[in-house]
Amino acid sequence: MSRPEALWPLFGDLTGLPGIGPKTATLLAQMKIAAPRDLLFALPHSVIDRRRRDTIAGLDLPATATVEVTVGRHRPPAGRGPTRIEVEDARTAFQLAFFHARGDWLARSLPTGERRVVSGRVELFDGVAQMAHPDHVLRPDEAGQIPDFEPVYPLTTGVTQRLMARAAQAALERAPDLAEWIYPDLVAREGWPAWRAALSTAHAPKGAVSPDDAARRRLAYDELFAHQLTLALIRAERRERKGRASVATGRLTEVVRAALPFRPTDAQERAVAEIAADMGSPRRMSRLLQGDVGSGKTLVALMALLGAVEAGGQGVMMAPTGILARQHLDGVRPLAEAAGVRVEILTGRDKGAERAAKLAALASGETAILVGTHAAFSHDVAFRDLRLAIVDEQHRFGVSQRLELGRKGEKVDTLVMTATPIPRSLSLAQFGHMDVSILDEKPPGRTPVTTAMVSTDRLGDVVERLRGAVAEGRQAYWVCPLVEESEVTDLIAAEERFARLRAALGEEVVDLVHGRMAPADKDAAMARFGAGETGVLVATTVIEVGVDVPNASIMVIERAEAFGLAQLHQLRGRVGRGATRSTCLLIHAPDPGATGRRRLEILRETEDGFRIAEEDLALRGAGDVLGHAQSGLPRFRVADMERQADLMQLAQRDARALLATDPGLEGARGAAARALLWLMEQDKAIRLLTV
Ligand code: ADP
Ligand code: MG
Repeated sequence: MSRPEALWPLFGDLTGLPGIGPKTATLLAQMKIAAPRDLLFALPHSVIDRRRRDTIAGLDLPATATVEVTVGRHRPPAGRGPTRIEVEDARTAFQLAFFHARGDWLARSLPTGERRVVSGRVELFDGVAQMAHPDHVLRPDEAGQIPDFEPVYPLTTGVTQRLMARAAQAALERAPDLAEWIYPDLVAREGWPAWRAALSTAHAPKGAVSPDDAARRRLAYDELFAHQLTLALIRAERRERKGRASVATGRLTEVVRAALPFRPTDAQERAVAEIAADMGSPRRMSRLLQGDVGSGKTLVALMALLGAVEAGGQGVMMAPTGILARQHLDGVRPLAEAAGVRVEILTGRDKGAERAAKLAALASGETAILVGTHAAFSHDVAFRDLRLAIVDEQHRFGVSQRLELGRKGEKVDTLVMTATPIPRSLSLAQFGHMDVSILDEKPPGRTPVTTAMVSTDRLGDVVERLRGAVAEGRQAYWVCPLVEESEVTDLIAAEERFARLRAALGEEVVDLVHGRMAPADKDAAMARFGAGETGVLVATTVIEVGVDVPNASIMVIERAEAFGLAQLHQLRGRVGRGATRSTCLLIHAPDPGATGRRRLEILRETEDGFRIAEEDLALRGAGDVLGHAQSGLPRFRVADMERQADLMQLAQRDARALLATDPGLEGARGAAARALLWLMEQDKAIRLLTV
C-alpha cells in the first residue's frame, strides 16, 4: 500500500525545513528525529508560564516571571562579579545581573530611565531578588512577542528550545488535515480535537502539560490505536491461515478427570473449554493463558495436550529452564500415563544414544507429549504429527527460538502461558494479537501466606525461629540474590549463607541449589527437598517459578528490596501450597529506601498477583516490568502505558471492531486508518495490507 500523497511533505528531508541545515539534522537524528513527521510527535514535556504580571513581589522564589520595569542605575562589575542593573516594577525593586556583558549591549538595550519588559528566572541572591540573564528584554511595544506559555522540549546538546519550537512549527505547517479514523461517539464523549488541531494544541500548551489534556489523550489514543490495529491485522491474518481442527473426543481427559484428587475450578473449566473450542476449529489457535501463581495452569495445559493426542496428534510444552521442564514433567506425566499416554522430556542434557532413542520415539509418534527446554526447538527434533505447542513464560525465549517453533509446524496451535499476571495494558500491548484465557480464581483450600518484613539486624532471630520450625518438620526456602560474593555489591552470597546455616542448623538439614551447579546436582538437591530429606533449601532465584513442594511452608528472602515485585510474588507463591500455615519473611536492609519499602509493603498487603502487577508497573515503568528488549513491547512516544491503560483497551476494542466491518481497510474510516498506520510507522501492518 503506497503512502498517501498528503503525507509526503512529512516524510521529506529535515533540511527542507527552514532553519535546519545538515549539522542540525545530524543532531536531531540523535534524538530519533529523522523527518518532519518525527517532530510532530516530539511533544514538549512542560511549559514556562510567561504571562505578564505587575510585580515579582509575592512570588514563591525561585520562579520565572515576566514584568514591566523602569530601568535604574547600571553598576559595573566588582572583580569577577556581574554587571548589575537596578530595576523597579509596579511594587518592588530588584536587580538584573549579567556576567561578561559585551561592549555597549547593556547600555543600548537597557537604557537608564526607560521602560522595558523583562522575562526570566528570579532568584534570591544574598537576600536580594535578582534575574540573571533574562530570556527576554523588550520594549513595551514589542512585548507581544513573548508567548504567554513557552513550550519546553526535550533537547540534546547543540539543539536549543528556540530551534525545536521553530522546527516543530514548520513541521506542523506541513501536516495536512486528515480524515478522522476515530469513531465519532468516542471523539464526542471525550471531547477530543481533530488530529491536526490536537497536534497544534499539544505543541502550544496553554498551561501546565498533562497527559490528561484532551489533545494529548487523543494523540495517545492514535498511537495505541495504530499499534492495536497492527496487532488486530496480525491476528486476522493468523486466523485466516489454515490450521487444523483438532477435535478432542474426551477419551483421555475423562480418565484424567476421574483420577484427579480435586475438582477443577470454574476458571480452569472455562479455560479448558475455550482452548478445546479453539483447537477444534479449523483455524490456528494463538492464545495466551494468564494466571496467577498457583492458579493451576498445569492442569489446563495437560488437558489441552491430551486434546491434541485424542485428535490423533502430539503436543509439546516448553519451559525456560531445566528445573521448570522437569517440574512440568512431574505435573503432567503421572496423570497422562494413567491414561496410557507416553510423556518424554528433552533438555540440553540429553546426549548420544539416549537422545537418539527419544527422538525416534517422537518421530514415530510413540511419545505423544514432549516436555522440554529450548532443546526441544533443535532442528533435528521431528514430530510425527505436532498439533499443539505450549510455551511457558514466552518472554524468556528469544525471537529466533519462537521462529524455529513456527517452522516446526505451520498449522500448530499455540498456547502461551505467563507465570505472573501482567498488567492489563502491558498484556494488551504485548499480546494484543492473541486471544486470552484468564485463570482469575485459585483452587480452594489454600492457606493465606503471612508476610512479614524483617530488618537484617534481626537475622539471628530468624535463624532461631527456623530451627524451631525445622524441628516441627516444617520445610523452608531461603533465597539469596547472588551466587558468589561480588566485589561491587554487598549482596550476600548463597554459598556463604549456606555455610552459615549449615553451621547453625546442622549439616544434613540444609541444602543448596544455584544456577551454576551441574544440572544433575541441581535435580538431586530439589529431589531431596521434595522428598522431605532436607529441611532448608538455600537457593538463588532458580526456584523462582514452577517449583512445587507442598510441604514447604516458610519462604525467607534475603535483601528482598533488591528483587522486583513480580519476582517476590513468584517466590512467595512457592509456599502456601499445602495445608500448613505458611510464612514469608522479607529480610531487608535496615534502610531499604522509600521505593524498596513501598514495594515490600504492597507485598505484605496483598496476595493478588494482578494487583501486585499493576503496582509494580506504577512503581517501575513498563520496560522494567517486562525486563527484556525482546519482550516485543513497543516504544510509545505519547502514550503512557502506566497511566493510560483505559485508552489501550479502547484502542484494542476499536481496532478489532474496525477490522470486523472493514477487513481490508478500504472504506472511508479504513482509508483514514491507513494514513494513521503510515504516520505511526506500523510497518508490519503496512506489509500485511500490501500482500
Ligand atoms: P501454576 O502453574 O498456575 O502456578 P500449578 O498448576 O503448578 O499452578 O498448580 C499449583 C498446585 O495446585 C498444584 O499442586 C496442583 O496440583 C494444585 N491444583 C491445581 N488445580 C487445582 C484444583 N482445582 N483444586 C485443588 N488443587 C489444584
Ligand atoms: Mg506452573
